[in-house]
Amino acid sequence: GRITRALEQMSSLTEVDDDGKALTDCLNEIARALHQSGVPFKTICAMSSSIRRIVVNLDARTNDKRRIIHEAVFTELCNMLDSGKPSFTPTKGKPSVVLFVGLQGSGKTTSCTKYAYYHSRKGFKPSLVCADTSRAGAFDQLKQNARKLKIPYHGSYMESDPVKIAVEGVERLRKENSDLIIVDTSRRHKQEAALIEEKPDLVIFVIDGSIGQAAFDQAQAFKQSASVGAVIVTKLDGHAKGGGALSTAAATKSPVIFIGTGEHIDEFEVFDVKPFVSRLLGIGDLSGLVNKEIHDVMPTDQPTEFMQKLAEGTFTLRLLYKHSQNILNMGPIGQFFHGVPGFSSELMPKGYDKENRAKIKRYMTIMDSMTDEELDSTNPMLIMNESRISQIARRSGRLMKDVRDLLQEHKQTAKRWSKFNTNR
Ligand code: GDP
Ligand code: MG
Repeated sequence: GRITRALEQMSSLTEVDDDGKALTDCLNEIARALHQSGVPFKTICAMSSSIRRIVVNLDARTNDKRRIIHEAVFTELCNMLDSGKPSFTPTKGKPSVVLFVGLQGSGKTTSCTKYAYYHSRKGFKPSLVCADTSRAGAFDQLKQNARKLKIPYHGSYMESDPVKIAVEGVERLRKENSDLIIVDTSRRHKQEAALIEEKPDLVIFVIDGSIGQAAFDQAQAFKQSASVGAVIVTKLDGHAKGGGALSTAAATKSPVIFIGTGEHIDEFEVFDVKPFVSRLLGIGDLSGLVNKEIHDVMPTDQPTEFMQKLAEGTFTLRLLYKHSQNILNMGPIGQFFHGVPGFSSELMPKGYDKENRAKIKRYMTIMDSMTDEELDSTNPMLIMNESRISQIARRSGRLMKDVRDLLQEHKQTAKRWSKFNTNR
């Protein structure tokens, strides 16, 4: 939210001023937002100076400064989160062994299960091996998960050597034609090393995303101790510190492949840098646009127009409609760091992607049934009487309450932003 706002604030100026104050303000605000989300100071400084370098080298007369700054921020955020290294990906029908490592409680067992589920839906035949002999309940937990997914599993209540269990399990499950054998472990240095000796196809380091800066030390320590091929960052739901975990993971040159966004088996997303940053910035999917002419493809001036109209107090339903279209084009919306950009968190709480998306679509259907006069009014609440509301509801096949909700949303957005602007 803050990064977007900083960019929008700057974008809403007609020209980037010559002494660079707008740029400095914007970069400072972005730095603060990144710092808050746990990104290490060193990373932020490096990023700010790269953007500055790009901007300083611009021709003073270029009238595309805003776009270039936008892109520079986008690119730098991508660089920050991108390890630049591809990860091993399993192939269907070709047996591979994936070893999960990480601190106690980081979410290994949960992520193993989510990883198995994700791949079973893609047509793999995954299986789970419990090589965590550190506590009594470990095998039961994994067994329960495997049964829920109806996939084969292996473990032992008697054997205390995780390497033995792993070797045995891999052998057995391979024979049973599992093409993705997932080995869950506990964090014990010696055993971990011994397991890695067995040369799994991929070692996945699971990192707790809610710990922010502390993730850095963990990642560094890990980088030295093992041949990590990929990282999964967990617990990114409801935690503002995710940026830290993600950027430090990238700093270890191991690609983040998935993120965990809840305890449920479904709450697991493929991590893709560019869409993630687009979402972070709330500017729609710019990923394909960085090297293209932006005007042709994406209405980048949409957020700007949105902001300008809000600032002027001329925010209409028609604008809300355009904004809604942009939001829907964005992919999964606002699950991290902010709610749905431009909408109130009361009506569109963060984390409710599906529901919010449906709500936005509903709003659009309602607006489709409005007259020009209604769409272009800057205070539609004023002109909407009961009879108009009931007509709109009837035409759009929605309830009068839905129409009132939409009007409320419009009013709240206008109010929230006018407050924001007078505070500045
Ligand atoms: P392990 O010790 O590394 O195997 O960790 P577990 O998989 O047992 O998970 C520890 C706790 O974190 C459990 O309560 C999980 O439900 C929880 N957990 C794991 N991943 C996530 C996540 O993405 N979001 C949330 N909110 N909780 C998670
Ligand atoms: Mg576990």
